Amino acid sequence: MTRISEKIKSVQTRLSKAAGEADLPRLVAVSKTRSEQAIREAAESGLRGFGENYLQEAIPKIEGLADLNLTWHFIGSIQSNKTADIARNFDWVHTVEREKVARRLSDSRPENLLPLNLLIQVNIDDEDSKAGVSTEEIFELAERIQDLPRVKLRGLMAIPKPRADFEAQLSICRQMKHLFDQLKQQYAEIDTLSLGMSSDLEAAVQAGSSLVRIGTDIFGART
Ligand SMILES: *Cc1c(COP(=O)(O)O)cnc(C)c1O
Repeated sequence: MTRISEKIKSVQTRLSKAAGEADLPRLVAVSKTRSEQAIREAAESGLRGFGENYLQEAIPKIEGLADLNLTWHFIGSIQSNKTADIARNFDWVHTVEREKVARRLSDSRPENLLPLNLLIQVNIDDEDSKAGVSTEEIFELAERIQDLPRVKLRGLMAIPKPRADFEAQLSICRQMKHLFDQLKQQYAEIDTLSLGMSSDLEAAVQAGSSLVRIGTDIFGART
């Protein structure tokens, strides 16, 4: 089995090829279902940001790895009775789709921590099964988040549906980039487009993603 450090190197090579002359996107390692030991190994290769989907699984890992001072990204669906635990333990939340949840995150963000960074999740393929706001709803939700004191809206996130064809991946990623650019024109603090997973990272980066979320291609297939 290829070591995690080797896999990270290979992902980094793919990222820099895809970025070309543009800025390299941030690499967030998606560590759901992975052990603390695997996360330590990835951190030894220089990764600082980790993404988790399930709160009950994430909190013991975050506590067990506190010595590493990692940055934690919540990328799972948010139950509104769990917002306080998310606000206390994470640095970023990628999956905001309701004002109520954003307000609860703001209300429970501890005063001794920096404001919690939020991304609005966009249901870019308009799938019934998928979370996220529609493209028309982005701007109203963004406006409401501006009033909340303990959170900071940093941009958008999406999980486009799987497409085998590169051009099709690129096209949907460009639609996200266009929405992101529009939002960025309205608010000074918008700087993060969270787009790209193991299977579409090249298309996402070529379209202008600034943060990719990679699980499989760093840690291997989830079992
Ligand atoms: C699991 C997951 C990823 C990582 O997917 P891979 O295909 O394993 O790279 C990225 N984003 C979200 C929201 C996920 O749930």
